[in-house]
Amino acid sequence: MTYQKDYSRFSIVPETQLMLEKAARDQVETVWDRYQAQQPHCGFCEMGLSCRICMMGPCRIDPFGEGPQTGVCGATADIMVARNLGRMIAAGAASHSDHGRDLVELLAKVAKGQAPGYTIKDPAKLRRVAAEFGVQADGKDDLSIAAELADAMFDDYGSKKDSLTLLSRAPRQRRELWQKLGITPRGIDRETSEMMHRTHMGVDNDWVSILLHGMRNALSDGWGGSMIATEVSDILFGTPQPAKSTVNLGVLKEDQVNIIVHGHNPVVSETLVAACQDPELIRLAERQGATGINLAGVCCTGNELMMRHGVPMAGNHLSTELVLVTGAVEMMIVDYQCIMPAISDVAACYHTKMVSTSNKAKFPGMEHHEFHPENARQKAATLVKMAVENFTRRDKNKVYIPSSPQEVISGISVEAVLAALGGSAEPLIAAIKAGKIRGAAGVVGCNNPRIKQDFGHITLTSRLIANDILVVDTGCVSVAHARAGFKTLEALEKAGPGLREVCGALGIPPVLHVGSCVDNVRILVLLAALANTLGCDISDLPVAGSAPEWYSEKAVTIGCYFVASGVFTHLGPMPPITGSINIVKLLTEGLKDVVGAAFAVEPDPEKAAALLIRHIEAKRAGLGLDSR
Ligand code: SF4
Ligand code: SF4
Repeated sequence: MTYQKDYSRFSIVPETQLMLEKAARDQVETVWDRYQAQQPHCGFCEMGLSCRICMMGPCRIDPFGEGPQTGVCGATADIMVARNLGRMIAAGAASHSDHGRDLVELLAKVAKGQAPGYTIKDPAKLRRVAAEFGVQADGKDDLSIAAELADAMFDDYGSKKDSLTLLSRAPRQRRELWQKLGITPRGIDRETSEMMHRTHMGVDNDWVSILLHGMRNALSDGWGGSMIATEVSDILFGTPQPAKSTVNLGVLKEDQVNIIVHGHNPVVSETLVAACQDPELIRLAERQGATGINLAGVCCTGNELMMRHGVPMAGNHLSTELVLVTGAVEMMIVDYQCIMPAISDVAACYHTKMVSTSNKAKFPGMEHHEFHPENARQKAATLVKMAVENFTRRDKNKVYIPSSPQEVISGISVEAVLAALGGSAEPLIAAIKAGKIRGAAGVVGCNNPRIKQDFGHITLTSRLIANDILVVDTGCVSVAHARAGFKTLEALEKAGPGLREVCGALGIPPVLHVGSCVDNVRILVLLAALANTLGCDISDLPVAGSAPEWYSEKAVTIGCYFVASGVFTHLGPMPPITGSINIVKLLTEGLKDVVGAAFAVEPDPEKAAALLIRHIEAKRAGLGLDSR
């Protein structure tokens, strides 16, 4: 750590600044130190102008026109940028969709009675989704339906179909457009596999063709793998309902055994919820001198547990190391995605035990305890016992919990939104038509050390709600909004008068937590329901999306499936595409004529807010509604 620290440069979150001071005192390196050490980043890579796809390379293209203008194979800047972007989309789609597959495998095992500790928690949703997949439910019990539904979902992963099942939820106009463009996704795995094939040297060398397939690949995630992940999670673990919880580092308890779950897939963490409530393990904790066992989450595994059980969240992506710097965590249990490999080095400075649980996500410095549906209940009990026994190793002199918990209302599924509206989307549409709510925006995604933590999210969302735009959030943004108090009824004071009136009458905050990263599909489902009710396409609605601080390949895929579904989408950090002016123009302008929506890249959240508000007002005018 060789540079002078001014922690307010890194984060607007006071507790983050305090924990960075402690990290420096404890000589712990964090993501901001490593980010600094990487400066300056490679300019070729930032522009998408480097390629290492084959061993005739690696190759780089000189953006100033003096050096090479093609790779060894002859790939131009357009081809290189398109191939790199295509592979990012494929990686994001694969991550979400493989997560979805793990849930379908669990559903199949539950159906066969091979997953003790798991049940069907929402049989009504099981039957609704089964009907969409053509599974006849009459006279069958839940487990038989679950077995058939799992089989039908596995079929969507393969390549035997012309179209994914859940595309039927999209408005007719949108499906016809995808068909006309030849981007209807056929199989979840197929589109990812085809993207990897197309971007091998010497296959698809038409950059437009690669990017169109990128749209198809992203749609296979949004209306396929991610949608299956969310629906099966609801079936197995319960469809979220509004409930109160708490966020920030203050959710850790100085007098309790603290266990943190990190990652994305709720399969492991769901079993930990039950294990942490086991009276025998609580008694064991008391014998160790603790007053109880406190389970909390970070990142999207945290979102999944908060949505369904009100389990508190300690932080978002850039806070994951700082949670351990409190010195108060007995164990962190990880599944997969967004878990920085350096986190074990942070844990090693304290007494925290790090545990990995997935056969596809192993980490240096972590004990590996592999979870399977067959052993999950037993494994969860073993891990909680290990965490409890670790409590006596805590060094009280190293403990520092810098804040008090902030209240939050969570658990806003589509079902919960419709229930709050009295069973249909009509009251929301009426409020939009009357201009009380101007429109809606999904503010989603990650943190990124390129941007001051939470600054993009909070600045943008403040402007949106003040302008009567309803905000829904997923992923790590949800913690940022919650930390800032946006998900309480008191936050209505920050909303414009129309939004305040409507949300106040419904008893909901102006910013609604709809879930984890895969749960972005809840937004797609809600948009489709609104468009279907109005008889229009999604691209006609006064809505927009934004990922002000994105970092992950998954965020690229999410952005692409929203744009391909007709939603104008803002990105904070610029993706690695500036090496091709053709591709920049297509993604930010040309796509409007193709799919009725495009990307905008704007690092300044004030300017981004103006872009979103202008877009929403223009869409209102397009629908014949009043516009400001
Ligand atoms: S695919 Fe072409 S541009 Fe890429 S590394 Fe190989 S030769 Fe170079
Ligand atoms: S929002 Fe981004 S950083 Fe956070 S859990 Fe999801 S992908 Fe990871």
